[in-house]
Amino acid sequence: MTADALEALPPLRDVIARNGLSARRALGQNFLLDLNLTRRIARAGGPLAGSHVLEIGPGPGGLTRALLLEGAAHVTAVERDARALPALEEIAASAPGRLTIVEGDALEVDGAAFAGDKPLRIVANLPYNVATPLLTRWLSAEPWPPWWASATIMLQQEVAERIVAAPGSKAYGRLSVLAQWRTHAALLFKVPPRAFTPPPKVTSAVVRFEPRGDAAKLPVAALEAVTAAAFGQRRKMLRSSLKSLWPDPEPVLAEAGLAPTLRAEQLPVEAFLRLAAILK
Ligand code: SAM
Repeated sequence: MTADALEALPPLRDVIARNGLSARRALGQNFLLDLNLTRRIARAGGPLAGSHVLEIGPGPGGLTRALLLEGAAHVTAVERDARALPALEEIAASAPGRLTIVEGDALEVDGAAFAGDKPLRIVANLPYNVATPLLTRWLSAEPWPPWWASATIMLQQEVAERIVAAPGSKAYGRLSVLAQWRTHAALLFKVPPRAFTPPPKVTSAVVRFEPRGDAAKLPVAALEAVTAAAFGQRRKMLRSSLKSLWPDPEPVLAEAGLAPTLRAEQLPVEAFLRLAAILK
């Protein structure tokens, strides 16, 4: 029985000690050793029964075990640190045919290549140094809806708050607009530093993204250009900050139904989409 074999695996603390997996800051290594917490994250990423999961950065495999125990049909786990491979092989042996380990840099791996005919769920406790570039890539996928059916990821609370920020708040910016254009994004729960080994300096949060089927069809590059210009000078009025895109932004703003005196952080997501549609 897979579940029994997975339950019988040695405690993660022992696995880490045995494999000399001392945490490396450069690899964003803050491990979760509490199986109650990893199972909670796995459940948040579900429903997992019958689903295929892509995990980035499994490390010693706490979340990987949880994903398998919570019923994922198959997990593909991409890990850069070769020291973690023996621990992951041990999990693979306890769940025959259900875990594929890919040694490599997630930034160089094409996630879409792991999506077969079944929707893929991304579930990960992301290394913080690559969290934003990876997320931006997943949110910028073409065609849309993308190759992933949901993404449930742990990242710094500060990044999580930027993702779900509403117009008018300090955290509202380029990432909020990109994420809210293409997904329903929700901050599910926060995780304190003490839950990790070693504890990071900041609080973390689990965010779940579900691709919106009704996301306006626009080139990502057009939206990125508009939000980069507008938020690049966020204290300036749009009639001035958008000059890098249009020599005279005022007629464009009028066409989009926007007052030229507005500032980037006052615009709802739909207003950025209207400007991007004009730019395109
Ligand atoms: N999933 C494990 C857990 O929850 O305990 C480990 C999470 S730890 C925050 C991040 C993991 O990502 C580490 O195992 C680290 O080696 C791995 N990692 C760091 N950079 C990576 C990259 N570019 N590609 C793939 N894995 C990476």
